[in-house]
Amino acid sequence: MMSRVGVGEASTTRPVVVLVGAAGAGKGTQASILAAELGYRHLATGDLFRSALRDRTVLGEQARVYMERGDLVPDELAIGLVAEALADQSAAGGVILDGFPRTAAQARALEIILAAGGDQISRVVAIDVSEADLVARLSGRWSCPACGTPYHLVYDPPRQPGICNNDGTALTQREDDRVEVVRARLTKQIPPMREVIAHYRAADLLSVVDGSLPIDEVTAAIRAEVGA
Ligand code: AMP
Repeated sequence: MMSRVGVGEASTTRPVVVLVGAAGAGKGTQASILAAELGYRHLATGDLFRSALRDRTVLGEQARVYMERGDLVPDELAIGLVAEALADQSAAGGVILDGFPRTAAQARALEIILAAGGDQISRVVAIDVSEADLVARLSGRWSCPACGTPYHLVYDPPRQPGICNNDGTALTQREDDRVEVVRARLTKQIPPMREVIAHYRAADLLSVVDGSLPIDEVTAAIRAEVGA
């Protein structure tokens, strides 16, 4: 029988929302909008791993080889990262998880981590986008290394090609957004994501929103599903 520790019961504690979706589905965009609107902490494991990589921490060096190949980082590293981040009291107002859990083992670990802190998942929202759209979105994605503003070569280009509208910095592309790594990421990461979705569907926590809609409509759909 599936463990239900930390899931499913009536929530009396801070909201904990999980966004699930393939790379490029818009988890990061939606999580940062919702975190700002609702005053929640945005916890993005991809961002935490990238900053560990940049800072050349032990964790960053352990994660590097997997990230560069488009593989998932081993569960124990991802779980340790999230356990540490969630223990931080600054997460007190509510949390939106972006990019975790990505495997069924991570989903089970999250329930235990949350229960230990008196928390539980309020809602899991899967953002659904077709695989062809994901490749097109990811391989056109560039951003400003100075202010973080994201752009897309086709859907949201900067006014001047390759230059940030806000501060004139030259835009950069994530190593793993090159088209060949994008395909590897999707091939490797979609099957475990399906297990995560099945896990939350079985726990009756799952909502699915159409991620091909305009950004503000996706935000509204997620808000409706999380009741915020
Ligand atoms: P993202 O920015 O969410 O696409 O994550 C970038 C990369 O970080 C992924 O391709 C993985 O290599 C790694 N990563 C992020 N979150 C996780 C996770 N929960 N489990 C394993 N690897 C992860």
